[in-house]
Amino acid sequence: MKMSGSFGSIDSPGSNSRRPADNLSLVRGSTATLLSDQTVYDVLCGAAGRWADRDAALFVEQGIRWTWSGLHRQVELAAAGFARLGVRKGDRVGIWSPNRCEWLVTQFATARIGAILVNINPAYRLAELEYTLNKAGVSVVVSAAGFKTSDYLQMLRGLGIGPSGRSEKLPHLTTVVQLGDEPVAGMLDWNSLLDAGTAHTADLPPPTAMNCREAINIQFTSGTTGAPKGATLTHRNIVNNAGAVAGCMQLSENDSLCIPVPLYHCFGMVMSVLACAVTGARMVFPGEAFDARATLAAVEAEKCTALHGVPTMFIAELEHPEFARFNLGSLRTGIMAGAPCPVEVMRRVQTDMHMREVTIAYGMTETSPVSFQSATDDPLDKRVSTVGRILPHLEVKVVDVEGRIVAIGEKGELCTRGYSVMQGYWNDDERTQEAVRDGWMHTGDLATLDSDGYCSIVGRVKDMVIRGGENVYPREIEEFLFRHPKVAGVQVFGIPDQRYGEELCAWIVTKPGVTCTGEEIRSFCRDQIAHYKVPRHIRFVDELPVTVTGKPQKFVMREAMMSELGLSQAVTR
Ligand code: AMP
Repeated sequence: MKMSGSFGSIDSPGSNSRRPADNLSLVRGSTATLLSDQTVYDVLCGAAGRWADRDAALFVEQGIRWTWSGLHRQVELAAAGFARLGVRKGDRVGIWSPNRCEWLVTQFATARIGAILVNINPAYRLAELEYTLNKAGVSVVVSAAGFKTSDYLQMLRGLGIGPSGRSEKLPHLTTVVQLGDEPVAGMLDWNSLLDAGTAHTADLPPPTAMNCREAINIQFTSGTTGAPKGATLTHRNIVNNAGAVAGCMQLSENDSLCIPVPLYHCFGMVMSVLACAVTGARMVFPGEAFDARATLAAVEAEKCTALHGVPTMFIAELEHPEFARFNLGSLRTGIMAGAPCPVEVMRRVQTDMHMREVTIAYGMTETSPVSFQSATDDPLDKRVSTVGRILPHLEVKVVDVEGRIVAIGEKGELCTRGYSVMQGYWNDDERTQEAVRDGWMHTGDLATLDSDGYCSIVGRVKDMVIRGGENVYPREIEEFLFRHPKVAGVQVFGIPDQRYGEELCAWIVTKPGVTCTGEEIRSFCRDQIAHYKVPRHIRFVDELPVTVTGKPQKFVMREAMMSELGLSQAVTR
């Protein structure tokens, strides 16, 4: 039945969620409310119906403000424009853009006609762009003019898109819709797409009978090795996850969510956009790309009640020289997620940023994305030191290398099962079968569960360092070093070593205006942590390499250290 299990009452992980049984690391989320059968477009129609004249979205940098009915109108026009270009249900439409209003419209317009939205990472360069467009068989791509140092339209021309609008290298691609201010030969501009839609709204088929179990989105994961993989998600995957995530924050139409996280990632398009559409909360986009000052200014000017970010964003905001000038008193909640969230940062976000009800979420693109999230009323220590409890309708187990469920408190690989697990990697059965076995998504993350069902992420399976036979979890040492008063950011990783097999390295960013030495760090560790956990190599850097979504790139640091120390790749694990 359509619209069953709408989001009138959202199940929070605290209610009726089960604790681990039999001392084993296996938890199941509550099933007290039904899963929703809504499609992404149903969600927008619901919002436009219930909150028509209330603000839906504000794009500060572009100066655009839409109500829910205004957004709905834009979506209808763009959808008619796409239909006019020949886009049909199941076709793939790519979007390659930072956080602009056209991204939001394209997300819902593709859903309106049942086309599958393909998110392309704004940081991609030529080879990745060519690979993803071809892998997903994208027929229409919406492209910004550029982002930071990348000239997107130049790159598309580099792939052979000329005045004819076609390229042999991109055989599926028929149209580039460009978001620049100037006309470009061989490309359609956004306003012309909307004009075509205005003139041909009758061409738009009635909202197709769509099934919530059909694919609606392909998200290429950031993968540090190998070609990007296209996690394919259904309406049911992402609509339900957005509802659960919004429930943990108790989001409502009275909230305004500040969204500095990128739209191309689940954090933006699911945990932010869809979470707002499900609850009627207002979306505030401070800028096209993350900027700490612009984010703080948007929170103050728009009296935002919620703020999202990866840990590095919150750190940049807290460390900003003008931080104290901004009035952040309107803030209540939000989500920190995407990478390990240092306890100290969580504490400061609660006190200095007034986000008393901030939550931590954990998940991955392949699970739509969130599996665990803290609730606003969880005990303080759990809210700062764990990723909370399992979301409704999901199951999680923690297993050892043989696949056996480990005892409570023991470390192992976290596996997730339930409605949130992706359909698979687009056109890649082999890698799908490696990742999803018997319905369980093998995350590659190391975790522990406690007897109340709270989960701690202790690292990545591959990041664990084995030094002289001792297992060392970089996350633990990062947490410790973070407590040093001069440390603003830190990453710990292993490199090969003749004597111990592996040795520990730390890369540290100090707080503005202070200097620090390796000896100061070592003496801070002395008598506090075991000797084998004290990093042998310590380097001070201006910034830590991270992906667009703020994930630390340990492989970049590892390679740099190895080349500095003259170690060969051959000895790497
Ligand atoms: P992505 O698919 O880009 O969302 O990346 C997912 C990965 O980010 C997970 O497999 C984790 O390694 C990491 N991650 C996400 N959230 C957290 C968190 N709260 N704590 C630690 N790691 C996290």
